[in-house]
Amino acid sequence: MGLLRIGLTGGIGSGKSTVARAFAARGVPVLDADEIARELVQPGMPAIGSIVAAFGSELLRGGQLDRAALREVVFHDDRKRLQLEGILHPLVYRELALRAAQLSEPYGILCIPLLLETGRRDFVDRLLVVDCPVALQIERVMRRDGSSEDTIRRIIARQASREERVAAADDVILNDGEPAAVECSVERLDAVYRLWARRAR
Ligand code: ADP
Repeated sequence: MGLLRIGLTGGIGSGKSTVARAFAARGVPVLDADEIARELVQPGMPAIGSIVAAFGSELLRGGQLDRAALREVVFHDDRKRLQLEGILHPLVYRELALRAAQLSEPYGILCIPLLLETGRRDFVDRLLVVDCPVALQIERVMRRDGSSEDTIRRIIARQASREERVAAADDVILNDGEPAAVECSVERLDAVYRLWARRAR
């Protein structure tokens, strides 16, 4: 029996990275789909060829993918966004599976922001959802990224709803209070996941 995969998902600004860091601080391995996606579009990686073939070489700046320009292109064009996701998502899931298989710890956190949107609930053994009110998501992302409220609302509208996520969850962290409360929830879940992983072995 390999590593137990705990999926971590939630809307933009809900606190996924904050939760992931709290698990990592307890020695739990964390794999991050967004980080892998960024690695996959580095020069020489296979994804970059497919992206340039689909979107044109004007997205290259000295051999590097101009990620801001690409984001701009797909943000305003749903067809292109789906096309990009069609290239990237299968590669990201393949890489996540490869890396998860190499770990020897009892369980690991797989942070996958679009797990439910991509219909891949089955990719993980158990699902942890970070949830918070939309108003807090907007406030946090405005502060973190300097994005406009309108931009953040558009992103949220494209993501699964709070209700959909919570309905799919095995565990939920309601991150609407102090950051210290997140650590407390993570400490408890870590204890439960360790027990569960031991039993599954
Ligand atoms: P996600 O990874 O889901 O987009 P983050 O973990 O990056 O969300 O959190 C979004 C922003 O809000 C970050 O700047 C983070 O430091 C902050 N944040 C997260 N949780 C809390 C909290 N409970 N109280 C205050 N700020 C928070």
